[in-house]
Amino acid sequence: MFDTVLIANRGEIALRVLRACKALGLKTVAVHSEADATLRHVALADQAICIGPAPSSKSYLCKGEIILAAQLSGAGAIHPGYGFLSESADFAEMVENAGLSFIGPSSAAIRLMGDKVSAKRAMTASGVPCVPGSDGALPESSVEISAAAERVGYPLIVKAAGGGGGRGMRIVREPADLLQAVAMTREEAGRAFGNPTVYLERFLEAPRHIEIQILADKHGHAIWLGERDCSMQRRNQKIIEESPAPGIARTEIARIGELCARACLDVGYTGAGTFEFLYEGGAFYFIEMNTRVQVEHPVTELVTGVDIVAEQLRVAMGEPLSVRQSDIRFDGHAIECRLNAENPWTFAPSPGRVTEWVAPGGPGVRVESHLYAGYSIPPNYDSLIGKLLTHGATREQALARMRVALEETVVAGIDSTIALHRELMKEPGFCEGGIDIHHLERLIESGAFKGAQQV
Ligand code: ADP
Repeated sequence: MFDTVLIANRGEIALRVLRACKALGLKTVAVHSEADATLRHVALADQAICIGPAPSSKSYLCKGEIILAAQLSGAGAIHPGYGFLSESADFAEMVENAGLSFIGPSSAAIRLMGDKVSAKRAMTASGVPCVPGSDGALPESSVEISAAAERVGYPLIVKAAGGGGGRGMRIVREPADLLQAVAMTREEAGRAFGNPTVYLERFLEAPRHIEIQILADKHGHAIWLGERDCSMQRRNQKIIEESPAPGIARTEIARIGELCARACLDVGYTGAGTFEFLYEGGAFYFIEMNTRVQVEHPVTELVTGVDIVAEQLRVAMGEPLSVRQSDIRFDGHAIECRLNAENPWTFAPSPGRVTEWVAPGGPGVRVESHLYAGYSIPPNYDSLIGKLLTHGATREQALARMRVALEETVVAGIDSTIALHRELMKEPGFCEGGIDIHHLERLIESGAFKGAQQV
């Protein structure tokens, strides 16, 4: 049991975690880099500890220092947020061994699901549908690799078992390119992830990205909280998320959701998590699990009314989930636009001083952001500066509210992706719903935003 939580993250998610802790009556410790002393959550936390210079390798990724900060400050638990150490099984294990609570699944569950080969094997065993592919890791022999590829069929994708963040993947369209692609991915994976294991998957040409949110406690309860459609992406980075996913039957979502909840019980998974699927031709294919809270979790909070971060904290305290599956109602439609400090057309990062910040409001509007006028965005981290969400009784109402909210929002002093979102909210393909994961890149390539750029 704990009464103080150390927040091992920064930016909007650190503020989100801090608010959830406070609402539950928990005390908070912020750890921050030298570049982040002026963050909102640092000012609001009960204690703040500087853990190192700006580069995350010298601050937010320093496992030992963060655990020491928890011990010095009397924090009994560590919330890792997303990114940084959130999916490090080694860190979770160090936290466990230090006698502290890691707010997330056990290190064993992170390890199992963090390796894509073992994750797919576990999911197959639980009956969760996976992308057809090589049955586990590829062997060494070229003859056997070629035979495995023939069984999978072309085009295929070579993936690193330890890959993440869109890295460690190669598409192969012709048998002639196979062996070199395997060798290069192996070499790269060994260097980048310390694990040269690779496997093959059928390459799906135009899938949608649909993910299922789950929550599980330590008392044998696991529930699913519906889906999010995150198909609006650029270079594997999500830009817009929404729930429900347009045009997919609720019975299908319920079937997959129940499989995911059951899989959590099968592998002893606890806390919040997301099962990511590619959806093509009316079928779901599991690709990976994220063993942490996600950027887009508020989309699900808006349609279900469940506070996912508060549930994470409850589960870590050993309490049962506050809701059962039969309590979950799906209400209306929610959309999230990610706001990044980037040029909206070239996506060049735009750190610097925010001279003005006006957040929108009104019915069905939610803003998650650490911005304030005068805040300087350091160049060292991810460019996410906030998330704008709207909720409505229907998708049309949520979209209409988002258009109004985007018109109201002001970020001055830096470039932001607000102008891109304003365009996307009236783009015919998106408005119709059901786009695939290449939609945005096709729009950009076809010059669809040229007019907006000249304004
Ligand atoms: P990461 O852990 O790096 O995010 P994922 O396995 O989640 O890797 O894949 C990232 C993205 O790569 C997916 O969202 C999808 O766009 C693309 N992708 C992955 N596997 C396939 C596949 N079998 N077919 C087509 N696209 C894929």
